[in-house]
Amino acid sequence: MFSKFISLNLLFIIISASMLFLVGEKKAVETVNYLEEVGFPGDSERYWMLNREIEINLAEEPGSGFNIPKSIALFFPKETRTSSRWISIPKNGSVSFYNYFDNLQYGFHSSVNGLSYNVIVHFTTIIWVLKSLLLGLIIFQFLILVRSWSIQKSIITRTLSRSLSKLTEQAKTLSKEKGPLSIKEMESLAGTLDEINATRLDTRIDLDNTQEELQNLAKAINGLLERINESYRLQARFVSDASHELRTPIAAIQGYANLLDRWGKDDPDALEESIGAIKEEAANMKDLVEQLLFLARGDNNTMHLEVERFDVGALLQTIHRETQMINGAYALELQVEEAWVKADQGLIKQAGRILVDNAIKYTPSGGNITLAVKNAKGQIRLTVQDSGIGIPPDDIPHIFERFYRADESRARVSGGTGLGLSIAKWIVERHGGYLEVLSREDFGTRISLVLPEAH
Ligand code: ATP
Ligand code: MG
Repeated sequence: MFSKFISLNLLFIIISASMLFLVGEKKAVETVNYLEEVGFPGDSERYWMLNREIEINLAEEPGSGFNIPKSIALFFPKETRTSSRWISIPKNGSVSFYNYFDNLQYGFHSSVNGLSYNVIVHFTTIIWVLKSLLLGLIIFQFLILVRSWSIQKSIITRTLSRSLSKLTEQAKTLSKEKGPLSIKEMESLAGTLDEINATRLDTRIDLDNTQEELQNLAKAINGLLERINESYRLQARFVSDASHELRTPIAAIQGYANLLDRWGKDDPDALEESIGAIKEEAANMKDLVEQLLFLARGDNNTMHLEVERFDVGALLQTIHRETQMINGAYALELQVEEAWVKADQGLIKQAGRILVDNAIKYTPSGGNITLAVKNAKGQIRLTVQDSGIGIPPDDIPHIFERFYRADESRARVSGGTGLGLSIAKWIVERHGGYLEVLSREDFGTRISLVLPEAH
């Protein structure tokens, strides 16, 4: 805007100079015509002419000046075509920049009827008017600049402090929440940070106005950093737990391979035992690797959901039928009603199977297991209830953590890796739902998978 104003002022000065030139030329032509008709005026006429800012003198010698080149002179009126011209700025009294041009004179030397004259045009009035206009223009521009600067400054401060407080809020809520950051939280944080970039932090900002927000921000970011650290710590633990879990079946396979190497060739019993064990360990390892891959894809957000509308009741009936075929030792009760959701059927089935597998794994044979689907108040509940060993109260908050097993010694016997429920949790949360646990030791466990109903 400032450079626009400078250009505007230059244009004004150029137009003003052109105007002075045209006025000077016009007055000179009028004067020459007058001299041709009337001759050299008397004192009183010259006095009145001076009031019109025209001065005429008889010139003994032609004044020094410049002549208009012939090619250009053609465009000038014939009266002044041959005149020599000069421009002067006599200085009388104290001269400041403001009144420097006040006495500007445009002189002509003309010969009329055999007499030589110097015609001098003064511009005092017109220069005063132009000067006042220019001054007014500059003051006006200055006010506009000051106003737009203050508006811009307040906009920058406002947008920036809005973004900062939004980031602070976000960081605060993120640091308050428990557990590591989820991908969603990370993304929304990145979004807020992007917005801050968009408000151009490189613009100079008055820090005094934003200090309070910055302090709050610093506090919130510290909290957030703690959670990020926690995330990294959990990640590192996950990797070490995963390696540890894989080491066990690998060591077992290695052990049986050695056994085979030594006696297996001659001893058919050892051969059979080793092959059976190697097969089982390999199957365990395959399951574990599949679970790990699932979680890794979930963490990277590369899992593709095939969302469709389906009846969870019908899905649980299928799970019930399949489970009954494999595990005849349990009385599996089924209570379903129609309950439609929009979700990835394969994944929901996987989550349902995880709950049923646990119920079977942690319920002594002969126990009761109930599978139910209920549609209540827009929420679909898939519940698996068993009359099994239950979960100690202290363990309940942790059972959704990766590799967490409530009772290590019992779990080792049952062969679990502690990843099932964390996978189920990921699946349910990805569909906008949650898991609910109710359990009492030596009495039983009820875990519900809650999903929003599809309309
Ligand atoms: P995985 O399912 O990966 O083979 P897992 O069953 O040990 O192994 P999760 O399904 O994640 O792992 O369950 C975590 C822990 O929660 C289990 O080790 C067990 O101690 C406890 N748990 C889960 N479901 C039940 C249940 N129905 N009854 C008793 N304890 C349970
Ligand atoms: Mg399990």
